[in-house]
Amino acid sequence: MDKIFITRKLPEEIVQPLREKFEVNMWHSEETPMDYEDIKKEAKDVHALWTVLSDKVDRELIENLPNLKIISNLAVGFNNIDVEAAKEKGVMVTNTPGVLTETTADLTFALLLATARRITEAEQDIRAGKWKSWTPMQLTGMDVFGATLGIIGMGRIGEAVARRAKGFNMKVLYHNRTRKLEAEQQNNFTYVELETLLQESDFVVILTPLTPETKRMIGKKELGLMKETSALINVARGGIVDEQSLYDALLNKRIWAAGLDVFETEPVPLDHPLLTLPNVTVLPHIGSASIHTRLAMMQINAKAIENVLEGQEPDNRVV
Ligand code: NAP
Repeated sequence: MDKIFITRKLPEEIVQPLREKFEVNMWHSEETPMDYEDIKKEAKDVHALWTVLSDKVDRELIENLPNLKIISNLAVGFNNIDVEAAKEKGVMVTNTPGVLTETTADLTFALLLATARRITEAEQDIRAGKWKSWTPMQLTGMDVFGATLGIIGMGRIGEAVARRAKGFNMKVLYHNRTRKLEAEQQNNFTYVELETLLQESDFVVILTPLTPETKRMIGKKELGLMKETSALINVARGGIVDEQSLYDALLNKRIWAAGLDVFETEPVPLDHPLLTLPNVTVLPHIGSASIHTRLAMMQINAKAIENVLEGQEPDNRVV
């Protein structure tokens, strides 16, 4: 019987159907991640490995799992997996695109609004007893309606964010490696070079994957091009923004604010300098975290694993 190992405790309703056909083992905890050596040990003779985005699946691990046929990742991003090594070893990698697009776009917009209107800062003030009177300029933020939105990475989620921006009468600029002429006409957004996007946007939203090309794509120089009144929103991956440069830019009021759902190290350490700044709105990587979407993502992983172990081609193959 083929063996499956799941690196995080998932709802039994999702896992049960797999147990009827395969030998399934699962990490005991929902909150505590497995460490690298544990995965290596627990998964050593498995045919399918079901991972979450915080698991590092590098060449060494892949080469240590001789029976492995598929790695199915509970995320659309797959920067935690060495896909080249998987390809070389004939191991398929699958992800969960599409099903999380609208949910992540909702969260992106929520973070943009929260950052612009200082929502979390305002709530913290109330709870800390700082609401003493109505004050003319207290907690004043930036308007979203009618502002210019710049999306770096106009893919599935980027387009879904741009559709939401229409309701806020925003001008939408975008930057990709390739232009999307049809979508530009349909949705009324404009392609610009990265420099122009940074110079002209009131809100810069990052929605590219983390790749060698996008790593530290936003650093001192790029932040230096942004308006002093602008905000940077990152819902993609932490490594895309150079956090030290972002801290400097926010501290020195080079830019006005940032909204971050992702960090270079996750969970973000409590002593991280960015957490000391009032003009940073932070979230713990919850882009796709609606009940419906998370369960749908898991169903996609389960189906891909079942397909591969039964000799069929899975959907959503990365390699
Ligand atoms: P997607 O449809 O593949 O879109 C990614 C976009 O990024 C594409 O339009 C791509 O266009 C562009 N891109 C890639 N490399 C680029 C580069 N070097 N410079 C400029 N643009 C580049 O992916 P998606 O489903 O929208 O997801 C996007 C990312 O969001 C994921 O990879 C994931 O890391 C992140 N995400 C985060 C959460 C969360 O919980 N925070 C949830 C879901 C997804 P070109 O190829 O034409 O450049």
